[in-house]
Amino acid sequence: MFSGWRDVAARRPWRISAKLLIISSVVTVIGFSAICVNVMLDMRRGEEALARQTLENLATTIESDVSRNVEIYDLSLKAVASNMLLPELATVSKTIRHLILFDHATTAKHFGAIQVFDAEGRLTIDASTLDPLPEDRSEEDYFKVHRDNPGTELFISRPMLFRGAYSIVLSRRISDADGGFMGVVAGSIRFSYFHELFDRLNLDPEDTITVLKRDRTIIMRRPFDLDIIGTNLNDRQNWKADNLRVGAAYSGQGPVDATPRLYVRSKNNGPLFVVAGKPLAAVFALWQREALRIGTVVLALILFVLGSTLVLAREIGRRAEAERKLEELATTDALTGLKNRRKFDSVIDVEWRRAMRQKAPIALLMIDTDHFKAYNDTFGHQAGDQVLVGIAICISDSVSRAGDCAARYGGEEFAVLLPNTSAAEAFKVAETIRRKVQGWSHEQAMSTVSCGIASLVPNAGMDWPMLVAAADKALYAAKAGGRNQSVVASLPQLSLVA
Ligand code: GH3
Ligand code: MG
Ligand code: MG
Repeated sequence: MFSGWRDVAARRPWRISAKLLIISSVVTVIGFSAICVNVMLDMRRGEEALARQTLENLATTIESDVSRNVEIYDLSLKAVASNMLLPELATVSKTIRHLILFDHATTAKHFGAIQVFDAEGRLTIDASTLDPLPEDRSEEDYFKVHRDNPGTELFISRPMLFRGAYSIVLSRRISDADGGFMGVVAGSIRFSYFHELFDRLNLDPEDTITVLKRDRTIIMRRPFDLDIIGTNLNDRQNWKADNLRVGAAYSGQGPVDATPRLYVRSKNNGPLFVVAGKPLAAVFALWQREALRIGTVVLALILFVLGSTLVLAREIGRRAEAERKLEELATTDALTGLKNRRKFDSVIDVEWRRAMRQKAPIALLMIDTDHFKAYNDTFGHQAGDQVLVGIAICISDSVSRAGDCAARYGGEEFAVLLPNTSAAEAFKVAETIRRKVQGWSHEQAMSTVSCGIASLVPNAGMDWPMLVAAADKALYAAKAGGRNQSVVASLPQLSLVA
């Protein structure tokens, strides 16, 4: 009997599912995107860490090679500086003196010949010749530093043109037993050494290797640029010295050119240090390709999911609307536009139980057209239909509260359910309807209605057909009383019904 109402209730979730579908799709897309972004950022961090490690190893390897060579060369300088103090040196021939001083001296392709200068900066001994031409180096840094600072150990000069080749000059002070200044012993490492060292490495053209003194003077750089050699990074305004701390890495524009790179400093702590740089574009090239590929696929998936969601949601919306229309059709009386009997039964069922829960009165009007058979017989069935439509309009005009339900109960009978309404209030409504019908038909149809009214507060053990029966009984009483009147079911009548 109430299956219609249950069907409607079961179909209602369609409307919820459209929203649910959109929400779950959006949440899925957001979650999916967040995971993808996270994975891609992780991959990027991985690429950076790998590049950083590679650059650090490269810088440290180069620094080790440079430091070892400087150390070996320095050992020779030290030996010459201490042998210069031998008193016998003045008495032996130049050849023997050469043998004593330079026998163990390192002679390698890229090392310049060791020279000894006296306290005035004049060249006295040259490892490459027994009779050196006069030279005065008293104005050179590598001479003045030792003359003016007795504590200076090995001094590495700025890069300079030295004996026809770009070199760095390594020098040590010669001090007598009391620490007095006796001169300087100097040698050089040519740039060709660095060129050869860098050429041995498999590097991209845009990769940089910079060899610096501890005071941040650039000794050598690859790619080679003479203008940069010898400059001090501390003088660069746009470059923070902190960027080159030991073991630090720096991502961004370097001090020399505009290409953004990942720069990593070598780990050792020798007199020179090395900074290796790789363009960020190269570091992330693989990642970028991968991110673009994954990003495109993910974007396509997201668009697909969102697109299908919209299509589905629209389809669900359409179905919901169609169902609403169907539901309306299935619950409306075609002739009068009032609710039909089916709908009335389900509404009274729900309202009855609500009234029972709330212990509130619920009223029912049963309205029947008077002498309608005769009317039909006189004016025809179609004219009768028009009267039914007119009565329906009078009823719906008089019933306006939310929750009220006016229905065509059957044939020429109407029912009006009025929740939360006492018998007296219901009587007023019935009279309004009756008078309205009378007024309206006075000119046109000469039709009247009779009205039976029942109102009660349902309690356990009662069911709503009792209310219908009571209203029906009152309606019969109205008919019996001469028609065109409203009769309220009396309590004794109710108990009679019960
Ligand atoms: P009473 O005052 O005692 O109610 O008399 P009545 O003639 O109205 O009662 P009765 O039950 O004898 O007749 C009901 C009539 O209503 C019979 C039928 O022709 C008419 N009727 C029922 N449904 C419709 C309808 O949909 N259209 C029309 N035109 N007439 C209808
Ligand atoms: Mg009837
Ligand atoms: Mg009738």
